[in-house]
Amino acid sequence: MADGILVVAEQRQGQLKPQSLQAMTKGRSLAAELGGKLSVLLIGKGIEGLAEECKQYGAETIYLAEGDGLEHYAAASYADAVVKAAADADPKAIVFTATVMGKELAPVAGAKLGCGVCTDVTAVEVEDGALSVVKPIYAGKCFATFRSRSFPAAVSLRPNVFAASPADAPGAGEIKRIEAAGSDADPKAVELIAAEGSELDVAEASVIVSGGRGIKGPENFEMIRELAGELGAAVGASRAVVDAGWIEHKHQVGQTGKTVSPNLYVAVGISGAIQHLAGMSSSKLIVAINKDADAPIFQHCDFGIVGDLFKVVPELLEAIKAARN
Ligand code: FAD
Repeated sequence: MADGILVVAEQRQGQLKPQSLQAMTKGRSLAAELGGKLSVLLIGKGIEGLAEECKQYGAETIYLAEGDGLEHYAAASYADAVVKAAADADPKAIVFTATVMGKELAPVAGAKLGCGVCTDVTAVEVEDGALSVVKPIYAGKCFATFRSRSFPAAVSLRPNVFAASPADAPGAGEIKRIEAAGSDADPKAVELIAAEGSELDVAEASVIVSGGRGIKGPENFEMIRELAGELGAAVGASRAVVDAGWIEHKHQVGQTGKTVSPNLYVAVGISGAIQHLAGMSSSKLIVAINKDADAPIFQHCDFGIVGDLFKVVPELLEAIKAARN
């Protein structure tokens, strides 16, 4: 009977990503509502040690797909592992994370399974024994509700929208190994090289400080980086400054950049154009610093500071440092 949830967990260098813990937490509550159990799939090499953490998050069954060909993410190989785990778990739904990896893996695995896939979901609940999910459409201007009619259904959860918390009581954590070698259909990853400076990725950060055209020039990103450093934040940017070549595109937030949902988003010298809002309006707390009291960003923020950012940011930095000492 298909009534459980299978979460496809993501790990990097032997550590579960926070988004996977969020997916397990949501998966656990959905499974409980459906009257089924939570299963978790771990894919990689030398990752058995992560099973304990999955157990603490309520996993009754942990599928382990391990092997040389699975050390680095590769779509076809990982999707094969998902298909095999799903065949055994027979879940009502498969839950992915809408991370860079999950954005590719969910549709590839969904196609192999012949099941419906709803990506970048911001709310999920059980309704009459089926999943009802909400996702932003038209670049975040509207929200659409979808209901699964065939099973398993696949969903990917937007990072940082769902809370993560261990279960009150650990799951049974029964380990089942899956025979999965790499697939010849995949390009072979030889080595993973971390980007220089190993900056936090905005798409997965829980705090972001973003700079816009108001900062006047690329040299002033130093101030944004300093504030981000103090807050343990990733550095974001508007398209205007990316187009101007002040910072790389990987930092861009918005319709043609990354979609983010941090706990705190600080917009510095950003006007709040609809295309920027499309990427960050689901942030839990938005703080805006802008000298123009009529800037649209002030209609979307929780706290707004009307003032010159070249005065406000140094004062903020000073206050943060003073509070820490
Ligand atoms: P501006 O709109 O120029 O705003 C600068 C702000 O800084 C102003 O509000 C000003 O009051 C303030 N300011 C100036 N000096 C100071 C100071 N000293 N102190 C405090 N405040 C100050 N944009 C994105 O961001 N992301 C996207 O993904 C994206 N995709 C797009 C896709 C399409 C198809 C199109 C057409 C546009 C897209 N845009 C995107 C561009 C978007 O429309 C805006 O042009 C852009 O977001 C503006 O960036 P900004 O807010 O940094 O600049």
